[in-house]
Amino acid sequence: MSARHVEFEIPSTVASDGAGVRIRRSIGLQPSARVDPFLMLDEFGSDNPDDYIAGFPSHPHRGFETVTYMLDGEMLHEDHMGNQGLLVSGGAQWMTAGRGIIHSEMPRLREGLMRGFQLWVNLPAKDKLRAPWYRDLAPHDIPEFDLADGVRTRIIAGTMKVGEAAYEGALLGIATDPLYADVQLDGGASITLSLPAGHRGFVYVFEGSVAVAGRAVQRSAAAVLSEGTSLVLSSDTDGSRCLLVLGRPLGEPIAQYGPFVMNTRAELEEAVRDYQAGRLTA
Ligand code: MN
Repeated sequence: MSARHVEFEIPSTVASDGAGVRIRRSIGLQPSARVDPFLMLDEFGSDNPDDYIAGFPSHPHRGFETVTYMLDGEMLHEDHMGNQGLLVSGGAQWMTAGRGIIHSEMPRLREGLMRGFQLWVNLPAKDKLRAPWYRDLAPHDIPEFDLADGVRTRIIAGTMKVGEAAYEGALLGIATDPLYADVQLDGGASITLSLPAGHRGFVYVFEGSVAVAGRAVQRSAAAVLSEGTSLVLSSDTDGSRCLLVLGRPLGEPIAQYGPFVMNTRAELEEAVRDYQAGRLTA
């Protein structure tokens, strides 16, 4: 076993996206802040509807996957194929855009707290033009486990291992074999996880403070992990919560223009032409 440590931290920066939704972006803030295969992580969280109610009206995607995880509030999703889904508190949506999706993501409540995340996961070159795919996860579709005294997790994708025990998440068989888990630690609690050696990833703290391999990581910062087969997480504060996100790196060139993520500039130009000609999703 080789222990993973924190290579560096990416603090989040407040930004605006969609029609004026206030977000905190860490992973993907600049091209150099990507963690292969992850392109972007946005946290949204506000009890002021002005910060989010304008939502994300109709927009396209090609070449990657978007994962929305709602902690509080509701978001209505509608796409060009007539699919409709309501994301509720504790639920998630995994969307593989493949060759093209045009959709809207609109907050449903006019009052109250909205809180959640959107993660962008790259697709390998061979899958970038595949048919779109969705999975809407209701809160009860996401398995919850007690991993140790004072340590609980909800696993959206992948398998988490603690010693010989394996805990399976809601989604398996995704292209980059990702692990996407929400980990909650009571004050003073600690856990040692076994992780796939070559996977790249990060811990994103969103409540309290978490010691990641002994390094105190504060709220709204992404701690990018070294390679290794184990990771120690412990709570520094009286209760803390983080996302643990890992995936198999693709090691392929990335050409990005907003919501299009391909391998070459020519493929990006094709995506823009296809979108303008109304054949992105054809
Ligand atoms: Mn979108």
